[in-house]
Amino acid sequence: MRAVGLDEPFFVRSGRGAYLEDVDGRTYLDWVMSWGPLVFGHADPETVEAVTAAAQRGTSFGAPTEAEVEVAAEIADAVPSVEKVRLVSSGTEAAMSALRLARAFTSRDRIVKFAGCYHGHADALLASAGSGVATLGIPASPGVPTATTANTIVCPYNDVDSIAAAVAQYGEGLAAVIVEPVAGNMGVVPPADGFLETLRRLCDACGALLVFDEVITGFRVARGGAQELYGVTPDLTVLGKIVGGGLPLAAFGGRAEIMDRLAPRGDVYQAGTLSGNPLATAAGLAVLRRLRDDAVYDELERRGARLEAGLAPHARVQRVGAMATMFMTDGPVRDFDDAQACDTERYASLFRHLLERGIYVAPSQFEAMFISLAHGDEEIDRTIEAVADFDG
Ligand SMILES: *Cc1c(COP(=O)(O)O)cnc(C)c1O
Repeated sequence: MRAVGLDEPFFVRSGRGAYLEDVDGRTYLDWVMSWGPLVFGHADPETVEAVTAAAQRGTSFGAPTEAEVEVAAEIADAVPSVEKVRLVSSGTEAAMSALRLARAFTSRDRIVKFAGCYHGHADALLASAGSGVATLGIPASPGVPTATTANTIVCPYNDVDSIAAAVAQYGEGLAAVIVEPVAGNMGVVPPADGFLETLRRLCDACGALLVFDEVITGFRVARGGAQELYGVTPDLTVLGKIVGGGLPLAAFGGRAEIMDRLAPRGDVYQAGTLSGNPLATAAGLAVLRRLRDDAVYDELERRGARLEAGLAPHARVQRVGAMATMFMTDGPVRDFDDAQACDTERYASLFRHLLERGIYVAPSQFEAMFISLAHGDEEIDRTIEAVADFDG
């Protein structure tokens, strides 16, 4: 909230559909939606019912359950690159584990990430990260030893020359290239034509694994994520947010040959007391099963397009499916430098203008608006009118 000139956050008491209520009884139309997981809105009745029923059967076992196999099957069915998948509890854990696996599989240490892409807060990935790190203006975080990020090479997003140069220089030692296939953590930045294809080609040429961090985009921009939408298949995929239906569940998966290196079958250690937790798998299944219906994605696209069309006269709107950002700039935002050049003061006043009218967008220029099936035309049009009112 400090990034938008406010001292105090509001404290949430409850949420329903597209709305939040705070402890003082004020309601807000919510475009943050827990930063992405809630594709059916707050307190979705089917999710609540599934979680309640699961809780009555026991909250954690530390032993296999049928529901975790069913979640794994939903993911493998949906996501093109995933033959096998491991469930964990957060996107941070999933990205960290995927890189450990990539390093073991390739017997190499170096990784490439892109400026403004956020992959959770594992030490090695806290170099030039987006999201809260970008908002707070911390290039990396204190407490991260330089030795830990020494093997992390950072390239500008959408810059094929720069990644080609990095591969030419470090290719022999590169374990993985990790990327948000649609960036969401510097605001929404779609991949430029050919960018993802170039990453695929360069990884194949040097023997590095291509890792798509689809924690936001998975089950959002299409059921099979950005890899389905753009037709580029990574070696490993990191998932979170929507897969857990609003509970702590995330996953990483990929080719069987790579995943088989994981313990206990293989020698790469990975474990978690609450991984595949029965409440989380119940919520995940309650959501994922309804996402088999293409009509969901047609409807998210229709609503996203309506929002984009209404906001476009008032800001530079960048959108892919059900994620969008209003950038306070005139030109296209193609990378983190472009995003950082936006007028964050103007974004802050827009934020305060909207909040006064009971509309809550992300308190940062470097985040997304998350369209859900709970955002009807009324909510979309009310938001457009309020933004027009600010602009006018
Ligand atoms: C949110 C996010 C993460 C981290 O997930 P957590 O569950 O917050 O640890 C990783 N990658 C991307 C792209 C994200 O948006």
